[in-house]
Amino acid sequence: MDSGDRQSETDIRLTELGRLANPLFRGSRRVDTQTSVCSLRPVHRDRFDYDTFWTLLDRVRASHRLLRFADVKDALPETPFALLRHDIDYSPAAALEMAVQETARGVRASYFLLPNGPYYNVLDPRHAHVPARLVELGHEVGLHYDVNFLYGFAASRWQDLVRLQATLLESLSGQPVVSIAMHQPGLHGEDPLRHRTDYLNAYDDRFFRDMCYISDSARAWRDDAWNLLVKGPLPPRVQLALHPVNWGRADRSRLAIFTGIHAALADDLQALGAVLIDQIDRHAGVVEHEASLERDRRVEQQKS
Ligand SMILES: [Zn+2]
Repeated sequence: MDSGDRQSETDIRLTELGRLANPLFRGSRRVDTQTSVCSLRPVHRDRFDYDTFWTLLDRVRASHRLLRFADVKDALPETPFALLRHDIDYSPAAALEMAVQETARGVRASYFLLPNGPYYNVLDPRHAHVPARLVELGHEVGLHYDVNFLYGFAASRWQDLVRLQATLLESLSGQPVVSIAMHQPGLHGEDPLRHRTDYLNAYDDRFFRDMCYISDSARAWRDDAWNLLVKGPLPPRVQLALHPVNWGRADRSRLAIFTGIHAALADDLQALGAVLIDQIDRHAGVVEHEASLERDRRVEQQKS
């Protein structure tokens, strides 16, 4: 055996020891087998493609049951578990692409839709089917809400205004809304509804402060989150907040993702503008009005 072989053998033993010492890798035979395969797959911190997504998710589900918020409505289950949450801030299409993959792999998640964001409209004929489709795929549809909308009203009205938005999603999805999650907590501070609604709130203490919270917000990993995901040990209760827009078949830079969102929005607006001008030009009333003006002009010309 040459020194290279000895080194490899040592590495393998150390890897095995690491696995046994790490609670992420303890447990049933199934867990051990699955983790052995997963641990061989390389994972890169600055790569946000579906291969990486599934490598990370497979690591988590090797030891933790992946659950929706709706699954813990009555009580928190036995540990270990991870609540899988997806906020749809920008792209219902990206969410559906992720949802289809998850269903194919036996994963169900909570998707939080924002009814009044600037990037998509849940009542737009292009997106109105998304809530029902998510439910059909086995996922939960929850409300992602913007506190700036609430702040325009007295606090006594907030509960009703949350209900209004949840009812909209319920009508579209065909399922009761069980869970809610505040949009952009990093920008707007503490969630004013954390203890104030009848819904499960993703930022309630039991899901946020008393639970390990891991997020890929803005296509970036905090050091602690990344280390827990990749090296473990993963705590027994986890909330995993992953944004579908960050992930794709190929990795894209942060700038490419977010400038792409705006380019698509600008293209949509430009196309809408062209359609509007064309429709106005061909509007029956406009045609009649302009023809009448033209006739008047000719009469005036003949007089002069
Ligand atoms: Zn959001």
